[in-house]
Amino acid sequence: MEVLDRFARPLRSLRVSVTDRCNLRCQYCMPETDYAWLPRDSVLTFEEIAVLVDAFTDLGVDRVRLTGGEPLLRRDLPVLVERLAARPSIRDLALTTNGVLLAQSVTDLASAGLHRITVSLDTLDPARFEALTRFDEHAAVLNGIERAAAAGFSSLKLDTVVIRGFNEDELVPMLEYARGIGAELRFIEYMDVGGATRWSPHAVCSRADILSQLEAQYGPIAPLHEKSSAPADRFRLADGLVFGIIASTTAPFCADCDRARLTADGMWLMCLYARAGTDLRRPLRAGADGEELRRLVSTVWASRADRGAEERLSAERQATLIPVAALRKDAHLEMHTRGG
Ligand code: SAM
Repeated sequence: MEVLDRFARPLRSLRVSVTDRCNLRCQYCMPETDYAWLPRDSVLTFEEIAVLVDAFTDLGVDRVRLTGGEPLLRRDLPVLVERLAARPSIRDLALTTNGVLLAQSVTDLASAGLHRITVSLDTLDPARFEALTRFDEHAAVLNGIERAAAAGFSSLKLDTVVIRGFNEDELVPMLEYARGIGAELRFIEYMDVGGATRWSPHAVCSRADILSQLEAQYGPIAPLHEKSSAPADRFRLADGLVFGIIASTTAPFCADCDRARLTADGMWLMCLYARAGTDLRRPLRAGADGEELRRLVSTVWASRADRGAEERLSAERQATLIPVAALRKDAHLEMHTRGG
């Protein structure tokens, strides 16, 4: 069964945040010293996550991505992976991780049936990594990436947030690193999502800037014309190397957005920029059955008119999206709670 929102966008993809905790403190995501955390007893069990995922897959979702926070901080994550991988309705089961704990989990994730992994890696320089993330974990991340590359997943991607004045001089080295390990790199424009309290328009390195820098090195770059709701536009260098750019800030792709996001405590968000969501934990814990959950999800999706990134682009961006005081009051507004 397919449900369409008010702009005729289907519900196809679900990002499930399994924890709001993270073991890094990236300046573009968690720059503050203190955070409000979700109460532990509000965090969904694997059983509860599976029931909600079933409600979504019954309505057309066939791609599920596990994220966070840092999803590998969630104890026994491979148990959840195994349970979801057994669902024939899930055509694509992926994980987004910062890679710090990847080396020790990669074998269990692969045997649990995980299809794909995306690792966030913003720099090849250990000192820069530590300045960005405030942890000395660069070697652990590279080790995790290399172990994942050897583990036989159907694809390995690297996501790099490009920040002017920080890592824009690493575009070519990052591409060559990805080539060397057989991963596909995606450059991400810096977004002013909730929690990015240091964001400034001057720090955004746009898709156009990224392409012109790469063309100076590699010559003409060809766009791949693909019909897809994936956030990245893909390109091919003359030597055949394919990479992506996620231009969420300067060229948002709301018109094709088929993604829903579930926080670790069961708040369902229709958009990365949404101010509020639908609490699915409450009906679930009150005993709602599959039919009731499906009815709720399809009714809410049918009323969806979110196009947060496009609205953000057309707004005057004088201040950060959400002030720190508001973030302190409601953890659901944070990127690390929503999952990327
Ligand atoms: N901890 C995991 C990781 O690092 O991949 C998953 C969660 S993290 C929130 C997901 C993605 O969001 C990461 O690739 C991160 O770089 C990206 N991200 C966070 N804040 C961002 C921002 N302000 N602009 C662009 N991307 C951002």
